[in-house]
Amino acid sequence: MSEAQDGTSGGTVPVPTPETAPFWAGTLAGELRVQRCNACGRYYFYPRPFCRYCASRDVEWRTASGTGRLISYVINHRPLPPAAPDRPQIIALVELDEGPRMLTNIVGVIPEPEELPLDAAVRVDFEPRGDQALPVFRLLDSSPRR
Ligand SMILES: [Zn+2]
Repeated sequence: MSEAQDGTSGGTVPVPTPETAPFWAGTLAGELRVQRCNACGRYYFYPRPFCRYCASRDVEWRTASGTGRLISYVINHRPLPPAAPDRPQIIALVELDEGPRMLTNIVGVIPEPEELPLDAAVRVDFEPRGDQALPVFRLLDSSPRR
């Protein structure tokens, strides 16, 4: 997924390509879209015009449930802009219920290991970034906190 520097906000704003445009149109619409292979029935991410498992080009976009599990994470204590430099950022690997794994951020939780049990249930949310929206995840059984 390509990104470009946004001179106005100082942050990186996703720049949709022909392959990723349906994904970014989805995040703007509040939907997490992933591709599914019609030949082998598996979902995959990141976007590409062929199945990562069987190389079939008979693939289509589906709207994912938006729920998944926290697989792994690191707490970045020196985040780069546009993240707040004084607020640790949680960089996480999330496995969607459909199967694909995504590198993302966990938000709305205190960035401490005690607050981030592995295998915790998470749900997607979307944060504005320039004229695009980024998928982030929140813990399902955690009260909203900042
Ligand atoms: Zn396939």
